[in-house]
Order: sequence, then C-alpha cells, then structure tokens
Amino acid sequence: MAHALLSPSSAHRWMSCPGSVSLSRLFPDESSSYAEEGILAHAWAAHFLDPQNQPQPAEALSSDNLTFVQDYVLFVERETAGGVRRIEYPVSVSEVTGEANAKGTIDCAALVNGTLKIIDLKFGKGVKVDAEHNTQLMIYAAGALPLFDVIDEVRAIELTIFQPRINNICSWKLTPAELEDFVNKARARASIAINYLRADPLPLAALEPSADACRFCKAKAACPALQQKAAEACDFRPVLDKGQDIPIVPEEALSSEQLSLNLQLADLLEPWIAAVREAAYDQMMEGVQVEGFKLVLGRPGNRQWTSNAEAEAMLKSFKLKEDERYTYKVITPTALEKLMKAGRIGERQWKRAETIITRSEPTPTVVPAADKRPAWSPTATASDFTPISN
Ligand code: SF4
Repeated sequence: MAHALLSPSSAHRWMSCPGSVSLSRLFPDESSSYAEEGILAHAWAAHFLDPQNQPQPAEALSSDNLTFVQDYVLFVERETAGGVRRIEYPVSVSEVTGEANAKGTIDCAALVNGTLKIIDLKFGKGVKVDAEHNTQLMIYAAGALPLFDVIDEVRAIELTIFQPRINNICSWKLTPAELEDFVNKARARASIAINYLRADPLPLAALEPSADACRFCKAKAACPALQQKAAEACDFRPVLDKGQDIPIVPEEALSSEQLSLNLQLADLLEPWIAAVREAAYDQMMEGVQVEGFKLVLGRPGNRQWTSNAEAEAMLKSFKLKEDERYTYKVITPTALEKLMKAGRIGERQWKRAETIITRSEPTPTVVPAADKRPAWSPTATASDFTPISN
C-alpha cells in the first residue's frame, strides 16, 4: 500500500501547517518499541475479530496487553452487533487529500442501523486522544461512507476512540452533511500542502507553528518557523527598563495576561526544546562535534545479580537465614484486581479488599482551557470533582 504523504493520522498537522508535509518528508520515520507494541496489539485485535481474513501474529502479547486487546474486541463486538462489519478495512483517501492512490486502513468500520461507525484502537498512553472533531477518523469516515452507502443509507456517523491503557473510550456523532463540510475544508488545506510540495525554496509563510501541530512533527528540531518563535520568545521586551527601580512585587510580569501568553509559548516551545536536545544527542552519538557541548556518562544503573539462581545458591552457602535472603512484598491492589478479572477471587472478595484500599489525592495541574476535564478550584471540596481513574 502506498505510504501517503498527507496521511489521515497526520491530518491535524497538515491542515494546521500545510508546509509541514514538504519539510517533514526530509526526515526519516522513526520506529520505537512503543510503535512495535501497538502494531502487534492491532494485529492480534484484527485476528480475534476476523480470524478468517486476519492471520494470527507469530509473536505473543504480554498478559497486560492481551487484557487490553480483549477489552477492545468485546467492545467492538458489542458496538457492531447486528451490523455489517469490516476489520482492517482499506479505504481510498485521495478524494480528500488529492494525493493519487492514497489509502488509509480503518481498524473497524461498521454500518449498524443506518449509523456508520468508525472505531480506532489507540495503544499509546502518552497523549489522550479525543474522538470529537478527530481529523483522522473523519477522513476515514469520508473514505468508508461511499462503500457502506451502497449497502444501506448512512444517516449518521459515529467516531470512536478506544484507548484502553489510559481508560479512554470516547465517541462523537456527526451527520453526513457535517462530514461533507469538514471534507471541503480538508480538501482546501490539502491542496495548499500539495502546492507547497512543488515549491523550492519553501516560503516561511508555509509553516504555521502551533502546539498541537508541532508536537509530533518530525521536522520540529530543524523547523525555521519554530526556531523563529523561540527567538522571538527570547527577545521579549523587558518589563523593566535598565535604570528603572525594581518594584517589590513585579505585578506586571506575573499578571494573569502575561502568564497566559507565557503558557501558550511554553506549550509550543517545550516540544521544540526536547526535539533539539534529541537531535543533538543523536548527532553527537554519531561522533559529530557540537560546539560548546559534549557527551558525559551519567550514573551507572542500580546493581543487580547477573543470575538470580546463582545468587540464591550463593546466599544460602553464606548461611544467611531465609528472611535475610529474601524480601517478600504483598501484591498491589492493581495486581489483585487482575486476579479478580482472571477469576482467582470473587466479586465479594474484591469488594472486601476495596474497603482497605486507599490512594493519594490527585494533585492539580495547569492545562489549556479547552481540556475536557472539569475545572478544579482550590476552594472546592473533594466532593466537587470526580477523580480520574487509571
Ligand atoms: S515544526 Fe510545526 S511549524 Fe514546523 S513544519 Fe512542523 S508543524 Fe509546521
């Protein structure tokens, strides 16, 4: 399958910063153990849901990941019961992106009572993904709609994110007309991005930095627009002039308006700073000299036995008592819950255990106002908000 430059999964980026398609293709895709883990989880989920067409992966899942995948499989079966279901469903996205032969693969697409359901398994746990206005799923829906519309009329579309490792399951509904509005907007932005692919040199105006767009952009360590933002940030007009007396409380510097501006800037610059550090590390590990910086070794890791069996035998030969040789720890509530789910203890026993489970109070954190969680006030009482489960 052709690898799309304007992929549905990066639509939130190229719709916001059309020049990023041109700039980021200069940087290789990086694989990680997390990405591999996600690919394996998807392959197992597809096999469980459609064993006839989806081969059983050669590699097994860890028991934790197997539980997450089974939860997803049960969810999909429940949500799509009685409907027409397709797993690992390839759809053309060229109509939206304008890129020839571009395809996307939907984890699960189904038509249930006139509703086109697009369900996406997200295996990451770093960033909570929202179904509402999710550009990736809307592009998938646009690709799937004509294929399901011939089976039966699609009257509504429902997008669902199933992100089991952070207990995030969310859905959002829209009408075919609302989807068409989005497709028109996406098409217009994609056409700008494709025009920039032919531009050499790329105009600076092609790049539109924003915290959301830049966060996962491969080009961010080398992006001139993001660098410019950083330079502007360093060139803040000082609140106080040289020669001016310093007030005891610098209220202007800590005003709510100034803090709001600074936080928006921090959201944009933090990923850039991390990417610059990573790029410098990678290059220096390859032997490149970066003026003014060097590599040093950190502290060595914690000491551990090279062989537990050998250590056990040796400690016994030292005539140490058993309680001196071993450390016993009671299992955690999370481990007990897993045993309950595996049927090793019953619901009643779990309820009894719950009476002696405690957890520390959640600590407040600063997030953008658009965050879905309810605002918390330091003057609120504990009962005024619901803690987030993990
Ligand atoms: S880092 Fe940000 S501004 Fe630069 S290309 Fe990527 S998305 Fe665009």
